[in-house]
Amino acid sequence: MKQALRKILATIVCAGLVATSAPAQREATRTRAAQKTTNHAPKLVVVLVVDQMRGDYIERYGHQWTKGLRRLVKQGAWYRQAAYTYMNTITCAGHATISTGSIPATHGVILNAWWDRETGKQVSCTEDPKARTISYGAPAIGAHSAFRLEVPTLADELRAQLDGNARVVTMAVKARAAIMLAGHRADAATWFDAGSGAWVTTSAFTAAPVPFVESFLKSHPVERDFGKVWTRVLPESAYLFKDAEAGERPPEGWSEVFPHPLEGKSEKPDAQFYRLWAESPFADAYVGEMAAATVDALGLGKGPGTDYLAMSFGALDSVGHAFGPQSHEVQDTLVRLDETIGKLLAHLDHAVGAKNYVVAFSADHGVAPIPEQMMGEGIEAGRVATSDVIARVEKAMEPLLGAGKHVARMTYPDLYFMSGVYAKLQADATAMAAVKEAIRGVPGVWRVYRSEELENAKGSGDAIMRAIALSYYPGRSGDMVVVPKPYWFLVNEAKSVPAGSATTHGTPHGYDQHVPVILMGNGIKGGEYLNAASPADIAPTLAFLCAITLARADGRVLAEALEMPRSADIKATMPSESVKKQ
Ligand SMILES: [Zn+2]
Repeated sequence: MKQALRKILATIVCAGLVATSAPAQREATRTRAAQKTTNHAPKLVVVLVVDQMRGDYIERYGHQWTKGLRRLVKQGAWYRQAAYTYMNTITCAGHATISTGSIPATHGVILNAWWDRETGKQVSCTEDPKARTISYGAPAIGAHSAFRLEVPTLADELRAQLDGNARVVTMAVKARAAIMLAGHRADAATWFDAGSGAWVTTSAFTAAPVPFVESFLKSHPVERDFGKVWTRVLPESAYLFKDAEAGERPPEGWSEVFPHPLEGKSEKPDAQFYRLWAESPFADAYVGEMAAATVDALGLGKGPGTDYLAMSFGALDSVGHAFGPQSHEVQDTLVRLDETIGKLLAHLDHAVGAKNYVVAFSADHGVAPIPEQMMGEGIEAGRVATSDVIARVEKAMEPLLGAGKHVARMTYPDLYFMSGVYAKLQADATAMAAVKEAIRGVPGVWRVYRSEELENAKGSGDAIMRAIALSYYPGRSGDMVVVPKPYWFLVNEAKSVPAGSATTHGTPHGYDQHVPVILMGNGIKGGEYLNAASPADIAPTLAFLCAITLARADGRVLAEALEMPRSADIKATMPSESVKKQ
């Protein structure tokens, strides 16, 4: 009550008036009451991210869905041409883009990891030496937060701008997904540490385990899935393509064909079991259950303001990397996700009310086909080894700098030189040309850009250069950026393909950039939209629905998909209007 009063006073002070009389306060209270009843803001914002979901999976595999995914496609506003605008189609960057409405050039989360020039070390996007991990089970190593995320998220802004004390809860198998979806503060952000088999969080969000998470985890041990077997949900004839296609690289413990047992190397849950579990649709189902339990435990959507619940489903990424986008495993993961999301939406309908929440559905990136399968179709495809790029660059620099280590690191497409080396290259046009030529000589390399070309290229007419510039963050990005040809991608070594890594993502090509963007529920006009859209548009659109302003958004409000509130209602939500009438 005291707090409510403080907020009323704050509202009046903000309106430029001095609150002295009781009538003024009563009037303000009425205004706030009017705000509650006429405001169209959703009571709960739900963000669903599927890791590595290509946009065309909806057209290709959608006929196999009957539940949650189908409902989103049929009832939601489906942006059929949605795509990332930038090159670094990588998990951490994608989640940060969805949660902030800005691009990596703005939010600074350029990749999952990059070379830190100050410390001379590779850092992960969530690594934070000042934080410590808080485990709900066995001790886990690591220390994470969103401190490298340079802008507030939608959730951060909901907390800061609305006086309803928005509850912010996220969950995912991956730390970078749970953390980036939340932002700088959260009531709970929970992820799975496969190394220890424990669910964990960070001291950046809480000083101790969060009780409602703890009680859910206690009553739902991951170990209950030990010994279960992943088989197809639908009859085999319902799946497109063959179970084992060329080039598949299953993770250790599984073969190219169903069934896939959730077992370890020993008779009890061990590291292999936890890894396989985390990479299976069973983990997605678990995340869905945790989300539903959270809605009940906290009464999300029933508070005075707008709450925020976000989750990332990670199985499709692991399964896609291993079996490729044309596999029975990818199709079955989606069929199971259809069920998981269906259950969650049904729970939200019941607990919050279908008209009271809004859902945004998207993916952090897509994925390339497995190169062997493209080659089988007569299309040039392959893997570019960063080790090969580095070796050729070192050789090309020998005449200028002598033999030795001049490259500090190549991380995804970003090439970093040892301190002082790049300045020497910039001062020597012949050497620079030789280095670029050497990189272009690596099979599968398409283009090479220098950092100074990218700094001001966000408006470039060259689409590839523009896409790289939108991922370019000065100080964090490499000295040079290497772009593979279509159907080629970067790997550490090309000689052998590691288990679980048949294909990947991270390029500016269509199959990596095109992802689903679907909005459904409170304030959304369902339908199929062919307008240009990107996952960066999600947060600005949700912010508009919640009547808050994002400090720095690069995306747009997807205005054509909104049910516009009547202007009379908007008027009634302006506290200054009625207060002035005194
Ligand atoms: Zn991935």
